[in-house]
Amino acid sequence: MRHCCKFKADNVYFLEDNDMFSSRRLSIGFCPICKKPVAELVEWRFDGVFNRQTLSGINANFMVQELKEQIICSINDANYKKLKQEPYGWKFGINKQTKDGKVRQYASDFYGNKKLIKSFYAKV
Ligand SMILES: [Zn+2]
Repeated sequence: MRHCCKFKADNVYFLEDNDMFSSRRLSIGFCPICKKPVAELVEWRFDGVFNRQTLSGINANFMVQELKEQIICSINDANYKKLKQEPYGWKFGINKQTKDGKVRQYASDFYGNKKLIKSFYAKV
């Protein structure tokens, strides 16, 4: 993967083909220089054109959340099975607010595992 420098992805996911693209792969990791999350989608268009899209920061989060339904498996699935309950791999934060104003912060992974990190009352 590439952002401020070239670095190794934390994880690589294989995605389902769609109407336009096949051999689709999503790589995710953190840039070692600026520490931003980076997501890179590579895929081949039906007419043989190679497509690469690299996003960082909050946009990387959006791209991954959009594509996570299409994930078939990851190259680290074998390791993942050992750790099933804990959020695994590249985590992203989810904030949920209850009616009484309490905010619960979860760390979530792409497999739907969630872990409550903290809960607090939002300041008004
Ligand atoms: Zn960077």
